[in-house]
Amino acid sequence: MRSQDYDRLYLSPPHLGRHEINYLHKALEDNWVAPVGPNLDGFERDICEFTEAQACVALSSGTAAIHLGLKLLEVEAGDEVLCPSFTFVATANPIVYCGGTPVFIDSEPDTWNMCPQRLREALQARVAGGQRLPRALIIVHLYGMPARLDELLAVAREYGMPARLDELLAVAREYGIPVLEDAAEALGARYKGQPLGTFGDVGVFSFNGNKILTTSGGGALVTNRPEWAAKVRFWATQARDQAAHYQHSELGYNYRLSNLLAGIGRGQMELLEDRVKKRREIYLWYCDKLRHLPGLAFGPAEPAGSRSNRWLTTILLDAEQTAVTPEHLRLHLETRNIESRPLWKPLHLQPLFADTPMYGSAVCENLFTRGLCLPSGSAMTEGDLRRVADAIEEAF
Ligand SMILES: *Cc1c(COP(=O)(O)O)cnc(C)c1O
Repeated sequence: MRSQDYDRLYLSPPHLGRHEINYLHKALEDNWVAPVGPNLDGFERDICEFTEAQACVALSSGTAAIHLGLKLLEVEAGDEVLCPSFTFVATANPIVYCGGTPVFIDSEPDTWNMCPQRLREALQARVAGGQRLPRALIIVHLYGMPARLDELLAVAREYGMPARLDELLAVAREYGIPVLEDAAEALGARYKGQPLGTFGDVGVFSFNGNKILTTSGGGALVTNRPEWAAKVRFWATQARDQAAHYQHSELGYNYRLSNLLAGIGRGQMELLEDRVKKRREIYLWYCDKLRHLPGLAFGPAEPAGSRSNRWLTTILLDAEQTAVTPEHLRLHLETRNIESRPLWKPLHLQPLFADTPMYGSAVCENLFTRGLCLPSGSAMTEGDLRRVADAIEEAF
């Protein structure tokens, strides 16, 4: 009775449809095997159509998109950038690529995303200290959650959730700080009906292998300023000036997505609404099945007006009600060949960012201590889900 009796259940594996192969095949047939071609144009058009953004540039990763997005917002050496602590490190690394420093902000308990009050505190403290204001604000929609949804509130009322987008944007505008929206985990999620990624001055998506849609690796930047998209395209292709002889006046990067991978992206984009629907069903299935376990809660909750893509189903364990810890549960699931993962370790606790300013800390540290991500891939069958639920019940 060991793990090889089972197939491994992964946290969020790629889930291909039927049309990716057609786009790939056509690209190979037509010799469009370069970071330029019809799939790339089509993929960007598909993303614009879905998000209703004016312009999109497909790039080699979400991280590259954040990097060039911060360059658009003119983040330079010595600048500070406001950023949630509770996120994947790829949100903050590009700040450092630009020579800047993050200023971390704690989460709020209901949405798990950046706390507007702490954001205001950070800005007030910087004004009071006579310091230069941060150059930009990065908002992250963690685990795909934006802000509020009536239908889900019934399930999630106890547990809280999405970015208080309106409030965050209001605070940033008051101080004239441009916003980069890291929607890497939130493609297909909406706030008041509008797709996430389109609220900030610049929005970023990731098509990494474990995201809701994948091109194996890839990213995209969206903006409502076509001239900004042109600038990103220029930077992403080594910043070549208009000349036959490879002339360069600016520092460039090699960040463009391949036309082959964009073909996978085109096939994936056809499936976006289906994938969101499925991930949401998975979240609800787990809720229904496991809600009865003492000390186990689901979150973040979905406030009215928000529609998360439920990229990953996340749970919280309460040490006062159960002896089962997230690590105990993770190791137990591992014995059943099921992958699970702690919530993102807050960036202010990372050795890399040891001396970085941080406003608040209690909320995201508590979430990190108590949380676990469950297998949430959109290809999961009812049998797969039952296997995870049974293993969790065993642990309890
Ligand atoms: C995945 C992710 C990124 C980075 O995207 P890549 O395509 O992997 O470079 C950035 N921010 C968040 C919140 C992510 O989850």
